[in-house]
Order: sequence, then C-alpha cells, then structure tokens
Amino acid sequence: MRMTALLAALAESGMMEAVTAVSPQPATVQQLRLVHSASLIEQIRTVSSLGGGLLDHGDTYATAESYELARLAAGGCCTAVDHIMTHRAENGMALVRPPGHHAETNRVSGFCLFNNIAVAARHAQAAHGVERVLIFDFDVHHGNGTQEIFYEDDSVLFVSMHLFAPYFYPGIGSLREVGHGTGRGYTLNVPLPPGVGDMGYRYILNEVIRPKAVQFQPELVLVSVGFDAHWQDPLASAGLSLTGYAHIARDLVGMAEELCNGRLLFVLEGGYHLDVLTAGVHNVLYALLGRDEIQDPIGPSPYAEPDVSHLLAQLQRRHLPK
Ligand SMILES: [Zn+2]
Repeated sequence: MRMTALLAALAESGMMEAVTAVSPQPATVQQLRLVHSASLIEQIRTVSSLGGGLLDHGDTYATAESYELARLAAGGCCTAVDHIMTHRAENGMALVRPPGHHAETNRVSGFCLFNNIAVAARHAQAAHGVERVLIFDFDVHHGNGTQEIFYEDDSVLFVSMHLFAPYFYPGIGSLREVGHGTGRGYTLNVPLPPGVGDMGYRYILNEVIRPKAVQFQPELVLVSVGFDAHWQDPLASAGLSLTGYAHIARDLVGMAEELCNGRLLFVLEGGYHLDVLTAGVHNVLYALLGRDEIQDPIGPSPYAEPDVSHLLAQLQRRHLPK
C-alpha cells in the first residue's frame, strides 16, 4: 500500500511532528450533492453495499469499502478547508485516496469516484462564504471531472497543466476549452507536449497562470497535485523533476500569500512511483512550512526540454488580451 508506506516515511523523517494531523470527517450526502447527482451517489453506495463491482464501462470499480473511503477522501478535503478558513491552520495538504479529479457531476472516471477537490471548493463557498476559488491542477492527466463541474461557472477558475498527446487519457483539455456561458474565460487549459519539464512548467506558471490568478483575485487556492508528471513516472512522459515540483509548490505558496493570505490546500491526485511520491510530498510540506529544504534523490531529467514559447504566446493571446 503506497499510502501506508508514505505515512511511515513521513513519520520516520520527523515530518509528522512538524505538521498537525487532522482526522477526516466523511463527507455528508448533502456535501456530495453540492457537486454530484443523487443518482451517482446512490449508484456508488449501492454497488459498494453489495460487495463491490464495476461502476462504468472502463476500469473504475468499487469495493465493499469504496463508498465510505470515497466519502472520507472528499470529507477530508472539506475538513482541511474548515481548518484553513477558521484559522486553525495556515495551509494544508490532503493525502487522500481514492483520487478525485476525473470524477464528473454524474459519472465516475479514471479510478475517481467523488471529485474531492470540487467538493472542497463548493464546501468553501457554501459553508464559509468564499466567493472565488482558484483550482490549479498539475497532475499529468487533465482534470476532466473538475473542468466539467465548473465549466459554466465564473466563481471557480479552473487551470490545468497536463500532457496532451494522441491516445493519452482522458483526451480532452485543449487550448480551445475555455469555459461556456458565464463560465467563459474561467477554464484555462495548458496542453503540454511530451517532455516539458522544470523550465517550461514554471515559465507558463509565472507568465500566464500567475497574471490570470491576479486578475481573478481568488479567496482560496486549491491544488490538484499528481506526482505522475515526474520524468521517471512509468505511465507518462512529462519531464518534471522533484526539484521542479518543489519550486512549483513554493511559487504556489507565494501566490497564495500574495492573493489570499496564504490560504492554500494541496489535494493528492495521481502518482505511482513510491520514491517520487514520498520525496514529492515531503517537498510540498517543506514549501507549506516555509522551510528551505528539497529532497531530490533522483535528480533532473536527462532529456532536453521542447521549447514552449509558441504555446505561451497562444495562451497569452487567449487568456491575457492586451
Ligand atoms: Zn494522473
């Protein structure tokens, strides 16, 4: 179990003494209904109560425990938002499973049952009166569920940086997808070619996403972090190093401090390489604690990065008109 190994490593490094661990409360049906249809919630509950089974035509399934675990994952993110919004914590990281960013209003997808980060955003709005939430997703896969949930909504700015290549899951997240109706301009997709690494990610983060966030003026920043954009991830071919991840985390901490008194929550999505996951989570926590420390036992990507200046210009034309 990756989570068990991760928690053991966090204990061994002394990290658990540096942070405050918070017990997650399971999301209530009312909280889930802020995002998901009653029929989807009922389907997952029923399949789970019958001992488990497939939930879609792909590979997303439930076990007997899935309904409760998925409620804990979504609810854990809400618990973290409660702590941040009531000043019991400055910021946080939700180490939850199952992941959430592929789950749509009415459809499970990509091993995701409930969309944890979307439920947390809606909970911040419903329970704490937050008006504008920025969701930044840099899992290597596009956050299609989060995009679908907020596509027509101008109160949540959804920004996704993801690998965009033929046959790469989930196959959406192009430049042209920018939101619809009142949500037009509140979805920002950065479809990356393979191999974009530390420099390209930070370049686009600072030249496009940061100014877009400044315009939006979020009151809370939520981050879907997946460690599958690491250059050694077995399933993808984005080129981030652990040091690159650490700098992105620090940039996001700086952005949240500038825009919303540091209110920032990282939510774990994908990441299948245990050493990357363990060091990566440590680095995010160092950034959240303001510690100038980075773990990178694997080192930089040995491959040259493609030039992203054309993509940057396209993004600026579309999202930051002069
Ligand atoms: Zn992923």
